[in-house]
Amino acid sequence: MKVVVVGSGGREHAIAWKLLDSPRVTQVYCLPGNGGTACLERCENVAIEATDLTGIGEFAKENSVDLVVVGPEVPLAAGLGDRLQALKIPVFGPNQAGAQIEASKAWAKALMQAAQIPTAKAAVFNNYEAASRYVQTQGAPIVIKADGLAAGKGVTVAATEAEAIAALERIFGGEFGTAGQQVVIESVLEGQEVSVLAVTDGKTIVPLLPAQDHKRVGEGDTGPNTGGMGVYAPVPWVTPELMQRIQQTILEPALGALQDRGIQYCGVLYAGLMVTPAGDPYVVEFNCRFGDPETQVVLPLLQTPLIEVLSACVEGRLASLGALQWRNEVALSVVLAAGGYPGSYRKGDLIQGIPDAMAQGVLVFHAGTRWQEGQWYTNGGRVLNITALAPDFATAQAKAYAGVKAIQFADCYYRRDIGYRILESSAHKG
Ligand code: AMP
Repeated sequence: MKVVVVGSGGREHAIAWKLLDSPRVTQVYCLPGNGGTACLERCENVAIEATDLTGIGEFAKENSVDLVVVGPEVPLAAGLGDRLQALKIPVFGPNQAGAQIEASKAWAKALMQAAQIPTAKAAVFNNYEAASRYVQTQGAPIVIKADGLAAGKGVTVAATEAEAIAALERIFGGEFGTAGQQVVIESVLEGQEVSVLAVTDGKTIVPLLPAQDHKRVGEGDTGPNTGGMGVYAPVPWVTPELMQRIQQTILEPALGALQDRGIQYCGVLYAGLMVTPAGDPYVVEFNCRFGDPETQVVLPLLQTPLIEVLSACVEGRLASLGALQWRNEVALSVVLAAGGYPGSYRKGDLIQGIPDAMAQGVLVFHAGTRWQEGQWYTNGGRVLNITALAPDFATAQAKAYAGVKAIQFADCYYRRDIGYRILESSAHKG
């Protein structure tokens, strides 16, 4: 099989790497890929951007590819799924209608309310005056969300009314463009967050292992939000009973509500959940694609060949695939970022030590890297993901950080406490 992977992050490197696990996959094309996918065997980077829908369609058609796997949300929200379907190219990723579950928080909220999926109480506004009056009636703390895609920056958990009003001013002032034409204002949920990614063919939905991201840039979950600074899976306190409840009260009703809207949803449905101190799962958000960095720990634990899972989804036979098989291990991943991220950062610095890290048995998934004349250079805010598998989290953490120490580039930054919520030692001092 020839497979196209659309995107250029750590997620896409992990997807390409996992697809190539299977001898059935003879060729992977990454559009546009990164310095990691450039060096995989049977894998080639092609200089077509993830947002170039026409270019992706033409490439897939000309090269008779058997499957397109879409990494990021932006092309899905722009209708890449529809375009490929029109060309009769199998695509793992929902159409534009389905991608609304991520691309419009107001749409997703209405779907959740209709399907009685547990989520924070919310109201939607399309003008500043009504929105700010609502904030005054509700008081703080309160959550303000730009409706559309805002690269993870559209959400403010406001501790005070003034902070909430300032967020409304930014959104209706145009900071997020058309993504800020509406706002969702919702109550604050308390608890621990967990990501449950599920694969679906539109009829059956199968969860992958739960994962926990570390979104804040600083140790102890402080400082600004990022795309994610580290992650582990599975999450020990997410019991089989809780997973079953998530399946029955969240994933299946969401799929049913998509069907009710006439949407044939094939791809990943990613539920970002808050589990309250009482143990009840609530939806914070849905995403329409694999998570980054969650994919970099979940896929290495998957034993079932990824191509079998994705093929079953696009062919509408997920129900007959059988239970997914998982390694009897845990995985923990540390993100190496360029200093300054998520603010401004430098690019183009030489990266050294990747082979040494890999020789120690860690997986190195590239994100913002470039391969040039036999060397890797930094090329983005999140640069590398160092993933370690082990029988337990303490060993996985030690192994991941040993891998981290083998790698050098100028101004490298990483959190030293990935996994702290589930490990006795509150920080890794290495
Ligand atoms: P979202 O883009 O909707 O996932 O929001 C980004 C982050 O904001 C989430 O990962 C949460 O940490 C936080 N957040 C969003 N909505 C809420 C809520 N209702 N209560 C508490 N935290 C929230």
